[in-house]
Amino acid sequence: MSDIIIVLIYSGITALAIGLGVIPLTYESNMEGLPADCFTHVNQIKINRINKVLGSENIFAIGDIAFMETPKYVKGHPQDANVAITQGKYLAKNFKRIIQWKVPLDYEYRDLGSRASRAFFR
Ligand SMILES: Cc1cc2nc3c(=O)[nH]c(=O)nc-3n(C[C@H](O)[C@H](O)[C@H](O)COP(=O)(O)OP(=O)(O)OC[C@H]3O[C@@H](n4cnc5c(N)ncnc54)[C@H](O)[C@@H]3O)c2cc1C
Repeated sequence: MSDIIIVLIYSGITALAIGLGVIPLTYESNMEGLPADCFTHVNQIKINRINKVLGSENIFAIGDIAFMETPKYVKGHPQDANVAITQGKYLAKNFKRIIQWKVPLDYEYRDLGSRASRAFFR
């Protein structure tokens, strides 16, 4: 049996950017505040177009851990660095918009091609 460490984080807003490595932790412990039915069959966390976890009011997720369905990407976005980075930037902008009582903007991924992705890993 694997060791499971449960960490309770009390916060007004939570933004998860924990990659795929800790799936068993998030899944098995059913993290406080995460709805049980927000996991996909591969244990990503379902989010809406503004990266908010489905069924939650104050938990957001970006990058590999997050599963967002869009008209362009009905099976979710590719698990690559560009998606994680652009979702992070988008979420930061949307937090600012929310504070300013502006409507948050829907995220959509623009594929920059493999060359741009590889440049990130140099
Ligand atoms: C071998 C390999 C090659 C790849 N090559 C490419 C490539 O060429 N181009 C490309 O675009 N993408 C590539 N990817 C994919 C890319 O690495 C990921 O899509 C991207 O890193 C996802 O970013 P993320 O922030 O969602 O997660 P991660 O980069 O996995 O970051 C999550 C971070 O959260 C930390 N963390 C986890 N749990 C906790 C916790 N409880 N408390 C604190 N910290 C925690 C982890 O330690 C980690 O640092 C590759 C991936 C792999 C595995």
